[in-house]
Amino acid sequence: MNVVEVKNIKKKFGTNEIINDISFTVKKGETLVIIGPSGSGKSTILRCINNLEKIDSGNIIINGKKLIKEYKKDKPIYNNKDILKQINLETGMVFQNFNLFPHLTVKENIEEALKYVLKKNKNEIENISNNVLTKLGLTHKKDSYPCNLSGGQMQRVGIARCLALNPKLICMDEPTSSLDPELVGEVLDVIKKLAEEKKTMIIVTHEIKFAEEIADKILFMADGKIIEQGPPNNVIKNPQEIRTKQFLKRYTV
Ligand code: ADP
Ligand code: MG
Repeated sequence: MNVVEVKNIKKKFGTNEIINDISFTVKKGETLVIIGPSGSGKSTILRCINNLEKIDSGNIIINGKKLIKEYKKDKPIYNNKDILKQINLETGMVFQNFNLFPHLTVKENIEEALKYVLKKNKNEIENISNNVLTKLGLTHKKDSYPCNLSGGQMQRVGIARCLALNPKLICMDEPTSSLDPELVGEVLDVIKKLAEEKKTMIIVTHEIKFAEEIADKILFMADGKIIEQGPPNNVIKNPQEIRTKQFLKRYTV
């Protein structure tokens, strides 16, 4: 079963074509890793999937629900609010810069959406937040504020907050790019576990070795287009396209 279907999407900012006819699918339990040079449109794709940006053409279907209901005179008409809300609840996002609420503690950051968006009761909230705090090794930090955490801990809170909502799809945009090198490992380990648990994920990263280890499928993009996609054994170990080879050269010693 496909959790995500991205069908021929295009996206312009002004007159600049940023996403130029991209299609891919992610099946339940799969991890898709998107790699590619800076400015190639990787974040924009994740933002379109999360409905943080609107697409100009094509469609995105998440768990069978379409973002775009129909086209009228070539203009996309997005689905009604209820469906978009459902899609939104089923799709989690982990950001490069964590996007934590600075005035809330770790526990409050995790519980915010459970309380105000999902409107869970007190017991449920307590159970869920305790579970994810334990899972992410953050129980001892539950009453700390983000400013008193290391970058690695902050990103683990970002991931915990996402998991608390039990999304059917998790998107991560360069989750380790703003971390000091010595803190990257602890976050990659968490993500690796999620992949082993067969969470459905789309991860943008420059950690090529990590991508090779955890991805079911790699998508290499440049200039808003998919240059090459397939299992890591093909795209990373045995790339066919010159642009993929050039890109990967920078990551091999
Ligand atoms: P990547 O994540 O691969 O580095 P992005 O998706 O962030 O690439 O950006 C792709 C291109 O789109 C870049 O040239 C960027 O400058 C441009 N872009 C991204 N967001 C906006 C925006 N909100 N307005 C105008 N241009 C944008
Ligand atoms: Mg980006």
